[in-house]
Amino acid sequence: MTNVRAEIPAKYKWDLTAIYADQEAFDKDYAKVKELIASFGAHQKTMCESAEGLYQTLCDAQMIERVAEKLYEYASLNSDVDTSDNRFLALKGKVINLFNDYASAAFFVEPYLIRIPEKKLEAWYASCPKLEDYRRNIDVTRRYKPHTLSDDCEKLLADLQNGLGSHSGIRSVFANADLLFGKIKGEDGKDLQLTDTTYVPLLMGNDRRVRRAAFGKLYETYSRYGNTFASLLDGFVKEKTTMAKVRNFSDSQEASVFRDEVTPVIYHNLVDTVNRNFAPLFRYYELKRKALRLSKLHLYDIYAPLVVSCDRKYEFEEAVDIVLDALNVFGKEYRDTLENGLKKQGWADVYPNTGKRGGAYSAGSYDTQPYILLNYTDTLDDVSTLAHESGHSMHTWFSKQANLPQNANYTIFVAEVASTVNELILFHKLLKESDSDAEKLYILNQLMETYKGTLYRQTMFAEFEQDIHALSEKGEPLTKDLLCNTYYDLVCRYFGKDVVCDKQIACEWMRIPHFYMNFYVYKYATCISAASSIVKKIETQGAPYVEKYLNFLRCGGSRSPLESLLVCDIDMTRPEVIEDAIADFDATVKQFEELYAKQ
Ligand SMILES: [Zn+2]
Repeated sequence: MTNVRAEIPAKYKWDLTAIYADQEAFDKDYAKVKELIASFGAHQKTMCESAEGLYQTLCDAQMIERVAEKLYEYASLNSDVDTSDNRFLALKGKVINLFNDYASAAFFVEPYLIRIPEKKLEAWYASCPKLEDYRRNIDVTRRYKPHTLSDDCEKLLADLQNGLGSHSGIRSVFANADLLFGKIKGEDGKDLQLTDTTYVPLLMGNDRRVRRAAFGKLYETYSRYGNTFASLLDGFVKEKTTMAKVRNFSDSQEASVFRDEVTPVIYHNLVDTVNRNFAPLFRYYELKRKALRLSKLHLYDIYAPLVVSCDRKYEFEEAVDIVLDALNVFGKEYRDTLENGLKKQGWADVYPNTGKRGGAYSAGSYDTQPYILLNYTDTLDDVSTLAHESGHSMHTWFSKQANLPQNANYTIFVAEVASTVNELILFHKLLKESDSDAEKLYILNQLMETYKGTLYRQTMFAEFEQDIHALSEKGEPLTKDLLCNTYYDLVCRYFGKDVVCDKQIACEWMRIPHFYMNFYVYKYATCISAASSIVKKIETQGAPYVEKYLNFLRCGGSRSPLESLLVCDIDMTRPEVIEDAIADFDATVKQFEELYAKQ
């Protein structure tokens, strides 16, 4: 396929005229939102006066957000397929300014919502039933009531925000711009500049000497600056634990998961269940050791490849049919919608072209159809990406069908469930039906890597975060030694006694930016667990369960994420959900062992 966008046939490009036929239509909506924002301030007087006043405020807020999102999608999707076109970049900038203007104009909405007395609000629901349309949004905001301070304190905190939150940025500048790792000898014996970015591909290489050299050199450098990294992480954690106290949370973990409408129970359940189930992971490492023909597996061997490659090519049309075929289990509505979207309605932008941004994503807003950006190159990974992004798009589609715009957006806690479900279903089906051992080994390897990287490794990170926040809360300064010892103990536990836990790994926490995302990574592990458990139920219970799953998709943002998952029998407080994922990982390792032995 050509790299020139204009030469790519229209059927492989998404149809953005379905959002706005032309610039004039965009301008009309833009002017409409601009006007709504300009007059929004008037609600400050009336919002808390009556049920009608509150309702009108929320309606206008919703309308502004809804149209602004549509404008944003149009500008950003157009810009992403041709980043050199300044016209759309400028449009995108205009819409971002619109969002900022709206944020300033609507500053009073949340604090006012929190302030309305409970009794008054209930009376308003009774006298003005249409206000019920916003009950979920009102509830979500009012959850923060016990954690909201006086006006003066809130003002002070808002002013202080400018000076807070700098640790992550400093770490990133220091690690990426200032830190020099020096050179190692590459596979060809020539000098090779080591950076944090070239490190991972080097560790995935076949040459053990290069892997060991990269590992040693990288951590030697990190260790030299360990006190700086420790001060930064200590400062970050202190800021979070202090803020949690200021806002009346029992600790920083509770404060952080509160955003997800989750309690620390979910977190502990994940960590405890994973800790009881290391056996399949250790078998995977043993398998790796044998396959690499090593007497001992070191930490620098972990990323060395087990399977070379799957050379089979999948043309896009074939990929669409493979994915649709796998997703047939979801019934006619799901299949027909996705098939029409991909084949007739221009949902997908398929091939790479000069100026197009890399990677893949699913986008779209309440007033647009779903859109999928791909950079399709005919590999099996690309087929699985198509299944993944289709999962996001169909989740959004089902949610939109079932909900008012203010309840359609689902939270990050469930966002990767539907996409991962699709990937797992695709892989399981291909494993069952493929007649090529090479293809099967490739898929099994991908699955093992996913479970190892997303379930076990992210839980280890989550546990580290939990430990260091608890230490800081007890008043312990997070020094280099304390952080390295805490991290090393965890690594030894997660790799078991048969892997050689090279001492240098104690510094690995220094290169993980996610520890500055404040209890975020556990969601990677809970999402894949929920997805794996759902797939098991689909495969064992069939159609009656599929209906429950589709109802989960329909929940969108109309319920809390935990309640939404309960709709399809997924109880994130129970160990069974995590155990289902571990059982699938275990089965994957077994299948790989058998097939590999045959080779
Ligand atoms: Zn995704």
